[in-house]
Amino acid sequence: MNKLSEIVAKIKQAGFKQTKVRSALLKSLLQTRTPLSVPELELNLSNQGLKANKSTLYREITFLKEQGIIKEIQLGEDKKRFEIEGETHHHHLVCIKCEDILDYELERELDEEEQKITKNTHFKVLNHSLEFFGLCKTCQQV
Ligand SMILES: [Zn+2]
Ligand SMILES: [Zn+2]
Repeated sequence: MNKLSEIVAKIKQAGFKQTKVRSALLKSLLQTRTPLSVPELELNLSNQGLKANKSTLYREITFLKEQGIIKEIQLGEDKKRFEIEGETHHHHLVCIKCEDILDYELERELDEEEQKITKNTHFKVLNHSLEFFGLCKTCQQV
């Protein structure tokens, strides 16, 4: 739970106040192992006894994104998901059947490929996002 105080300190250092909704969002994102969608975040807030309307929720999410605290990921669904921007760059393994999501770190990251892209196309790569879709161990057995 030390992580939350670090994030709060970062927000304060940037000159912003910490709001209740913001803390609750960060708490639920820190506690989960899978990236959360907006409806899931909303549910977690109400479980913590907080009620935030959609526009407040989106405002907070945008703020946290702009501050580089959370990251938006697209897992090929019609909804976006969010996770805490971690120190470790990773990818996701997404089960298409039970929708479980696992973090995965590549043995060899894609720096070399990024350099090749720049060399071949003069496109300057800033970052990348790569998710793998398939069936988890449990779902293969059904
Ligand atoms: Zn599965
Ligand atoms: Zn990567």
